Amino acid sequence: MTLKDEFARARDNGSAIAHFNVSDSTQFNAVLRAAKRADEPVAIGVSEGEGEFIGMGVLAGMVKAARDEGARVYLNADHSYSIERAKHAIDLGFDSVIIDGAKLSFDENIAMTRALAAYAKGSEKEVLVEGELGYIGTSSKIHATLPEGVAITEEAMTSPEELSRFIAETQVNLIAPSVGNVHGIIASGEPRLSIRRIEALAAASSVPLVLHGGSGTLDEDFVAAIKAGIRMVHINTELRVAYRKGLDAGLAADAEEVAPYRFLKAGADAVEEVAYRRIMLFSNRVSL
Ligand SMILES: [Zn+2]
Repeated sequence: MTLKDEFARARDNGSAIAHFNVSDSTQFNAVLRAAKRADEPVAIGVSEGEGEFIGMGVLAGMVKAARDEGARVYLNADHSYSIERAKHAIDLGFDSVIIDGAKLSFDENIAMTRALAAYAKGSEKEVLVEGELGYIGTSSKIHATLPEGVAITEEAMTSPEELSRFIAETQVNLIAPSVGNVHGIIASGEPRLSIRRIEALAAASSVPLVLHGGSGTLDEDFVAAIKAGIRMVHINTELRVAYRKGLDAGLAADAEEVAPYRFLKAGADAVEEVAYRRIMLFSNRVSL
């Protein structure tokens, strides 16, 4: 199976592939255990900072090893703001790369995304290129209020016309629109997704729709969004919060413990639980 095949399967099943960001091998293995338990595919993503911390090449090797052992795991270079970083990920054999020109003008975004899609095609690798349309913030953390410039009004969200023009001119394989979603968790309240907008975009799109900023979204919104046509959901902040809380608990439980595989375990278990619940929800195996 390739990631492209998994998207076709998600479309046929009316489900969405779960995408989780990781910074280290503890989180990576925890997410893999969750996917194995659920018997579903999973995508692993690394932002520029996360990729630098774990090592892009090292992670690519880990994913290859897991796949050789039968795991349905796919690797994504999350949010590259430069062509160079995205090209590097393609050269390393990543299954998908995101080129994020959402903060640029529409035409600049098209030019950058088109250049990368052409490079991916020329590489003759099995790689999907994802474009970003509509600014949803950049930081995967807990925000007190909505980050500046984030579009959550209907007028500011991605329009079906923009979307189809962007896909036609760039030749991207995946597209992430702005539909009321925000990167990170907003402490003052959950962002609500515009299901009507997702339906309109899905009708206008020739490629799968990806939802970013899933953390903090209500379960009922996820279910409706997937029903409306979302085929991949990104979760980062929720996993970070679970990891941090689990680590704190694990360290506090025994101040004398020095074996990492013991004091990291509570963090890993917390990550696995969050990932498992999200995977089950996105594959329509939880009844609300
Ligand atoms: Zn994102």
